[in-house]
Order: sequence, then structure tokens, then C-alpha cells
Amino acid sequence: MTHTLEQLSDSGNFQQRHIGPGPQDTATMLAKLGYSDLDALIKDTVPAAILRESLPLPAGLSEVDALAELRAIAAKNQCAKSFIGMGYYDTITPNVILRNVLENPGWYTAYTPYQPEIAQGRLEALLNFQQMVIDLTGLDLANASLLDEATAAAEAMAMCKRSARKNKSDVFFVDAHCHPQTIAVLNTRAEALGLEVVVGDVFADLDQQECFGLLVQYPQTDGRVRDLRELCSAAQQKDCMTVVAADIMSLVLLTPPGEQGADIVVGSAQRFGVPMGLGGPHAAFFATRDKYKRSVPGRIIGVSVDSRGKPALRMAMQTREQHIRREKATSNICTSQALLAIMAVFYAIYHGPEGLGRIARRINRQAAVFAQGLQQLGYTCTDSFFDTITVDAGSRSQAIADAAEAQGINLRRGSQTLGVSFDETSSSDDIRALWALFAPEGSTLPELSDVDAQLAPLSSIPADLQRHSAILDHPVFNSYHSETEMLRYMNRLERRDIALNHSMIALGSCTMKLNATAEMIPVTWPEFGRIHPFAPKQQIAGYLQLIDELEAQLVACTGYDKFSMQPNAGSQGEYAGLLAIRRYHESRGDHQRDICLIPSSAHGTNPASAAMASMRVVIVDCDKLGNVDIDDLRNKAEQHSEQLAALMVTYPSTHGVFEEGIREICDIIHQHGGQVYVDGANMNALVGLAAPGHFGADVSHLNLHKTFCIPHGGGGPGMGPIGVKAHLAPFLPNHPVQPIDGLNTDNDTVSAATYGSASILPISWMYIRMMGGAGLRRATEIAILNANYVAKRLGDHYPVLYTGRNGRVAHECIIDLRPLKESSGITEEDIAKRLMDYGFHAPTMSFPVPGTLMIEPTESESLRELDRFCEAMISIRREIARVEAGQLPADNNPLVNAPHTQDDVIASDWTRPYSREEATWPVASLREGKYWPTVNRIDNVYGDRNLICSCPPIESYR
Ligand SMILES: *Cc1c(COP(=O)(O)O)cnc(C)c1O
Repeated sequence: MTHTLEQLSDSGNFQQRHIGPGPQDTATMLAKLGYSDLDALIKDTVPAAILRESLPLPAGLSEVDALAELRAIAAKNQCAKSFIGMGYYDTITPNVILRNVLENPGWYTAYTPYQPEIAQGRLEALLNFQQMVIDLTGLDLANASLLDEATAAAEAMAMCKRSARKNKSDVFFVDAHCHPQTIAVLNTRAEALGLEVVVGDVFADLDQQECFGLLVQYPQTDGRVRDLRELCSAAQQKDCMTVVAADIMSLVLLTPPGEQGADIVVGSAQRFGVPMGLGGPHAAFFATRDKYKRSVPGRIIGVSVDSRGKPALRMAMQTREQHIRREKATSNICTSQALLAIMAVFYAIYHGPEGLGRIARRINRQAAVFAQGLQQLGYTCTDSFFDTITVDAGSRSQAIADAAEAQGINLRRGSQTLGVSFDETSSSDDIRALWALFAPEGSTLPELSDVDAQLAPLSSIPADLQRHSAILDHPVFNSYHSETEMLRYMNRLERRDIALNHSMIALGSCTMKLNATAEMIPVTWPEFGRIHPFAPKQQIAGYLQLIDELEAQLVACTGYDKFSMQPNAGSQGEYAGLLAIRRYHESRGDHQRDICLIPSSAHGTNPASAAMASMRVVIVDCDKLGNVDIDDLRNKAEQHSEQLAALMVTYPSTHGVFEEGIREICDIIHQHGGQVYVDGANMNALVGLAAPGHFGADVSHLNLHKTFCIPHGGGGPGMGPIGVKAHLAPFLPNHPVQPIDGLNTDNDTVSAATYGSASILPISWMYIRMMGGAGLRRATEIAILNANYVAKRLGDHYPVLYTGRNGRVAHECIIDLRPLKESSGITEEDIAKRLMDYGFHAPTMSFPVPGTLMIEPTESESLRELDRFCEAMISIRREIARVEAGQLPADNNPLVNAPHTQDDVIASDWTRPYSREEATWPVASLREGKYWPTVNRIDNVYGDRNLICSCPPIESYR
């Protein structure tokens, strides 16, 4: 019995909440594997050469204490009123969306919709997002989000280069009036690709500049709105593609770039209800013309049909993506910003075209009233703008900006100018306060109601740039304007999907662990949300402390010396890490080092990122046990010794084993002057047990949305910070607008914001703070135990493909289904779909080995849930046995017909050679709560052949 206050206290409890199996279950599982304690299992699994003693982090805090500590940190941020603009605006997240999407695990814990039959809800939401972008930009086709506006512009540049085949120029011509962070990201990207960015006056100088593409900002970063028609046609005549970075709110009122001849339109959907959050996460959008559809980067949602001929949604054209095309992929984008795209489109659905029109007109009118008043005060302003005025305040600029800041008002500072951008939250009081700040000594302030009464509507938008085409006329944007209707629509979609609030999602390599509520709560605190990424440094003291502390935590976990939080997905971390390696070699005069060795088992983003860093990829073989073939590695390192830049290796391997030779592998690379990049996606098998920075690696990205509890959001957000050893630290990315102390300002820039998607960093901070060093180590041990338990239970029924020393797997295991295909014709896809009938999301399918499933249970799943999953898999194996034995026809059985829908079993003409019960209640526990897939198996080929990536045409609703 426990008695003392200390013993009865709550602290340490979080660990028990995060980790699924309790002491009893842990003992049961260990016994099944033949171990008496966890230590013995770990010693048998993790190579002794890398096993560390302990994780040097303080003990964990309770949820209450950790939240209190974070509250105090958050309080050091100041929520000033932001008029800075530059692509980031304060916004009002409708409460019904805040609570039911952003704060709802039904939405935020979902996985990327690779299994579309159990993801129709978020696929519909993302299709709506695409439709919204198509409407607003005036183009034919849009993707389902990219990471931020600046990287979307960089993706557009790369797409122009791919598409403008006749044009031999290597120059991308960028208008000087683009946002500076966009220009910085373009410069970095271009340099690495061997392209050249020329920044200048695109409108004046296009005829003298050879270029394959150009970029203009609409409205310009200084607020001016310019007609694009002549520019677009001049560009077209010289085979140069036009990219427009547009403000989404302005497009409600402005003639869309697509109608003016633009080829690609990119931008950020942030101000549609997504908090600024010091720069992210937000959804970027990307739209283009139909003829370029096969080269669009990122994920596109398409309409197909299911096996009953019903319309059904899926991700289209996946053959363009990195996991298929590898270094030839259209881009390295994997995780994008699904959850934020969904929030943005729900904002549009909730407000509808009229509501959005009202919001946009109000913003525009505030800017116009403000500008008019300024003119009365003696200033001159541009006469053509949407929401941003750049004021020439001459020598008074700094004094005005300082006075504003003292009142909690942030203006955009130029050397002689001040920028003022209005948003949905701006008020008449704000306008009066601004006038007072700008007013020269002794002048009389304008009377707001008088100015307002005198202004003609939309007077600041030239007549031929006013929008005439309708937006958002599909029913979905015109049906859910009451809160009740909105709530039910969102809930209807949510119920179509399997997320972690339903059952375990054992996605190998993706680490779908608990995203604890206490970790999520701070994300929606205004002290984190309402912060502009370019706010003065003294206003973000809380954020800077949080980032410093998280860095120290991650340093402890990885053994690296320094971190950059800039990359906002794993793919971006890979890119940033490879750039750091390149810069390091260059700093030593090794300009020729451009070979990147990559094992054949690597994730597709690895070669895709290497290609973006202009490295040449050389594949290293794997042996029969799934390990890197060290002889082959040695040969290739020797052969390319002079040119060797790096090895990219995942550890433990994507085959789910701890390779014994990892230290030797690192040594070989270093002997030949190369650097070792360890892909940190599998850190969930390492935290507390081994550190890449200790066993020879030079740089890694961490997927905070895998190992460190940021939820997957149905395909994003994510964070991919990189850790480096000290010698690479000088080459970490920096930022032109909000630079990092101690880093050269000329360094690369890989994201629009200095700290990437900073507002989700509290999730990882909370996780580490609540788990503590011992808790994190325990989590890793249990992740390994859970995987070995599943491997053991399933091993009697399906061959486990790779194991390490002593027959142990790491934190995931691959089961081989190819023999079953031989004996029964049943494929991995049939099994994946059949799992849906059992209420489960399939594990990773056919990666890294075709014809297999990769199962990663994570530490968060309890023994009970592991058993439910194993029982489902074993029951499926029995069904396959009946096919093998000829008791069920190979072409008509519960596997090939899976998943089963209510349409199937309600049909009066059930003629299948198995019963309705066998179809839908194959195990008794399903009667307690059955998930029903809403569509039957989806035809992938049909969807790609008949590509439709927008809502059905309006006529079809009539
Ligand atoms: C998830 C993953 C990546 C890519 O990370 P994103 O965050 O999706 O960009 C890279 N490598 C491996 C092994 C992964 O599992």
C-alpha cells in the first residue's frame, strides 16, 4: 500500500497513459517471447555497440504540471495586433471548426488517405479544397495542399522547368515585389538545381530577359494590384510560363490570375481560418492548367468509381510521386498540410460565397478608409490595392513603428516606408489608432464615419481587375451556413473515416502513436496562435524559449549538437540536411562531391531529396536478411571516393531491423570523405536506447509527427527539424526577414517561416516534458516489445520477412504475403481491404518490399488492441486457407470482395458463397461497434484514366 503524499502523487502518471501495456501485460508479452524482463529483450535486439546507458533528461511531469509550465512560457509571448501582412494575417477560426476539427481527434489523428475506402470523409473535404482553389484562382486543377507559399512557389519553378521544354533558358525571373521569404526560398532551391533566379522588374524588363518562367505576387508584397494580362501574353509568346503567388482573400474580389492567362497560381490558405502560429502550419495551394496535370507536385484527390459503380474518391496519379518515381519524381513532397487545407475549406463552406464576399469587402473597405484618411493627413498612397497600403513616411517611419509597437500594434517596417495590412479581425478602432500614429504633430484626425460615407464601393480596385466570375457555386458551399448544418456536415464526413479514435493504425514507418489531449491543448492557445512570424523578437520570447528547450530535449535524444526547426516535413528536413552537407563540402573546397549513396530499401523521399540537392544517386544493395550489403557499400564508396558526398540510410532500417554494422557503415563513409545522413523516421525505435549522433551519423531529420506525437492530420501537418553535429551547424538554414542569432544571414532558406510550423512544436515539447528521460526510454522499449509480440503471434500464420540477431525485430515487422498469392491468388491489397471489414486500417502496404505488409504497433497500443489486430489477421489467414483449399472460389470470396458495405448486405439478392455474417461480423467483437466502409473497393486505374479532380459539375446536381 502507498501512503506518503509523495507516493500518492499523480506525477509519472502520464507515462502510464501514453504507454498501452501495463506491468501485467508487459510480463505476459515478455513471457510469450521467452524473456523475464525488458532489459533482456532489448539486449537481444539492439546492438551492444550502440546501446546507451540512459537518456539524460529530467523526470517526467504530470499533465497538470507540464501544462502549467508551458502556460508560463506561453505567457512570455505577446499577442500584438499584426498589420505586417507579407502573407500572414490574423483570422477568426469559426468555433464550430475549432472544436470539431482542429480540436477533434476524429480529424487530427487520421492517417494519409492511402486506403481510400476508409477515408472518404477527408477525401471529400480535400476535393472541396481543390474546388475552392480552382474557383478562386480561375484555373482548371488544384492539388490538395503544399507546405507553405514559398515552397509552393519553388515547386512551381521546378514544374515550369519540367514543362517549358522548348525553352532552353535556366533563368527564373522573379519580380522584386514578391514576398522576401519567397524570394529566399527560390534562391536556395534554384541554386541547388543549377537554375538561376533573377530578381527584377518583371513588368518592365521581360522582353530583355530570357527565362523559362516568371513569378509575380498578386497583389504585390507592397499591396499594389496590377493587371497581369499583358504580362501573361508576353510571357506566353516567348514560351515562358507565368506563376502568380496570390492572396486567397483578395481573389474573392479580384479578377483571378487564371482568367488573365497565368499558368500556375500558388499561395497560402492561412487566412481562411487558420491561426498564424508564428508561421505555420498552414496549407499552401497550387493550381494550374489541365495540360500540366501530370506534372503537378504533391497529392491530388480524384474521383473514381467503386466496384458497385458508385462515385468514390482517392488520391490520383500516385505514380508521379516519390515512392514510385524516386529521384525522377515530380517533387519530394510527402506529408503536406491536409488538416489545415480541411480547416480552410470548412471556413469557406461555413461562410459561403456571400459570407466570404462580405469579409473580403470589409477588409478592402477598411484599407480604403484608412488610406483615404491618410491622404487627408497629407500622405500619398497607391490607389490600387486590396488590403495593404505601403506608406511613404520618410524619416518618421521608425518613430511611428516604435510608437505603434509600444501600443501593441505591429507595422511592416521598410527603410522609409511602413506597410499596413488589414485582415478579418481589424476594427474601426484600429483605423483610428493607426491614423493617430501617422498623424503629424498638430493635425486633426479624420472622422471615420465621414470618410466611410464618402467612399465609393471597391474604389481601390481598378474596374478591369474587379472579379465578375462567380465563386463557390457548388452546393457544398451553399448549404451549411447554420451552425447545426455545419456541425452535421463535418460529423458526417468524420464518421466515414477510420482514425486513431477508432482503432489502431499500425502503419510501418509512420509511427501512429497516441497524440495525447494534453499535448494538443496548447496548440490552440492564442499566445501560440495569434503570433505573426515576423513579429519583433521581444514579442516572441515564449516561443524562443520553447524552441530552445525543445532543441535541448532533441539534442539529448539524438546525440547531435544543434537543431534547425525550419523544415516543416521530413522531406524538407532531408533536403535541408543534404544542403548542409553540400555547403560543408564546398567550404572545404570539395565542390566535386555530389554522389549520394542510398540503400535500395530507402523511402522514396530520400532519392527525391537528393535529386533536389543536385546529387547523383547511387543505389547500394541489401542482402537477403534485409541489411545494407556492406561489401557493396564499401565497393561503391571506394569507386566514388573522390565524389562521395553522403550516405542516406534509415536506422533501424526500413526492413525493421537493427543492423549490427551501422558503426562500420558510418566509418566507411567517413573514410572516403563522405557524410552520413540518418533518416530519422524510425527514431521511435531509438529514443533513449541509442543516438545517431553517438554512433557515427552527422545529420538526421526527425519526423516530429511520427516519433514526437504531432498528429498526422490525415496527411499533414508535420515537422521535420534536423539535428547536426557541430561541424555542420554553420550551414543550417536561416531566414531573410526573421534571422536566427548566430547564423550567417546568407545561409539557405528552406521554408517560408524561420521556425517552420512553430505552433505545433508545443506538442513535442509536452510529450518529452511529460515522459521524461526514463519514460521515453520505456516507450521505446515497449514499442519494440509490441512489435516483437505481434511478429511472434503472426509468425505462426504468416512468414516474417526480416529479423535481426536472435530473431528479433525492431519497432516494426514485415510479413510476407507473396507465398499466399502463389497458393491462393489473394494479394496484399485484398488483405488490406479485408482488414477494413474487421474495423482496422491496413498496415503499410508494399513498402519497402512489394507484396508485404509492414506493421508498426507503437508503444501506445495495449495488449488487448494488439490481440484484436492479431486475431483479425489470423482470422483472415483462415479465410485464405479456405480459398487455398478450394472451399471458396478464388474470384468470389470475402477477401477479393472486401470491403463490404451496407449496400452489399442489405441487397435482397445475396448470392455469394459465404454468409452475410461472414462478410461483416467475421469476429464476435465487431458486434460491439462496427465501422462500415462507405464505399466498396475503389477502381484505381479508372480514376487515373478518367481524371476528375474537382466537385461534380453544377448541372449534375439539378
Ligand atoms: C515518413 C518518412 C519520410 C518522409 O517524411 P515526411 O514527413 O512525410 O515528408 C522519409 N523517410 C521515411 C523512412 C519515412 O518513413
